[in-house]
Amino acid sequence: MRLKCQYCRLTLDQQHFILADKQLTSICDICQVRGLQLGDFENTQTRALATVRQWVYLGLPTGAPQQSKQRLSLNKSQKKRCASLIDAFDALTGSWQNTKMRRDFYRRIIAWQDQPAATVITGNLPNDLAKLGFDVDRLFDKNTLDYTTRAYIREKFHHQCQYCGRYGDSVDHKDRVTLSDDNRLENLTLACRECNKLKGSMPYQQFWQWNQEIPATLAQLRDYEKTLQRLNVQQKTYQNRLAVQRHLNAEIRDPQLVALRKQIKLFQGLIDGEDSDYQKLIQTRHDYIISHYETWQLEQKE
Ligand SMILES: [Zn+2]
Ligand SMILES: [Zn+2]
Repeated sequence: MRLKCQYCRLTLDQQHFILADKQLTSICDICQVRGLQLGDFENTQTRALATVRQWVYLGLPTGAPQQSKQRLSLNKSQKKRCASLIDAFDALTGSWQNTKMRRDFYRRIIAWQDQPAATVITGNLPNDLAKLGFDVDRLFDKNTLDYTTRAYIREKFHHQCQYCGRYGDSVDHKDRVTLSDDNRLENLTLACRECNKLKGSMPYQQFWQWNQEIPATLAQLRDYEKTLQRLNVQQKTYQNRLAVQRHLNAEIRDPQLVALRKQIKLFQGLIDGEDSDYQKLIQTRHDYIISHYETWQLEQKE
């Protein structure tokens, strides 16, 4: 699920809006690093999602008296490139665990956002990071692998997560780098972002095993992913068609336009319904794995 921040207007992975367990924020974590207050911004999207998931929404309630509407002014292509740069960073192995590196990255993103005209970013991670003054050598040396290795691993596993079978692009160390510093190919596998994050510092063998125990759940997750993909493609087609029709036909009540809008609304309902079931199942697997991990940790202590 991707959400839109109400300050920077970037559409980012939901991780950027999760403050703690079951809490969704009105602005992204990057804007929070700026020192902006969650309570100063309303976000109907995260609020609605929090309600559906029965999570806590941290932000200005919709309709509450707002101070002057402040937001970042990036143009469309700057927003797009900045979001893909952040996506690429998110996909780096361990980037969600390494808070220091993440903070450093955010500070540079913020500095760029405040003066976007000064540097052109393209969405190409190593090049952009170097342009933003990030110590690229340190980053890729310690924490990650070179791009050829990553590309190789992604190809080798056909972009399929080796834990759950969904689309994956995170090259994952089976055993933690901090423990082993093991960048040999045998120690590398491919994960989806969700598995990558969920696994965190869990031992490879156990994480793999716990997933093996729930084949039906994994199959369902894959089905949801495929269905949602198809629905989104279809929805995009209708939306494009509507844009074209609108262009050709100024008459708002034109029956063709009305029919298209109806179709779009119908599909949005389907997408929302499927997605909420999907998120529920994601949570179910999450809880299953976490409870096994906790038990396992207790056993280790005995
Ligand atoms: Zn933001
Ligand atoms: Zn996965």
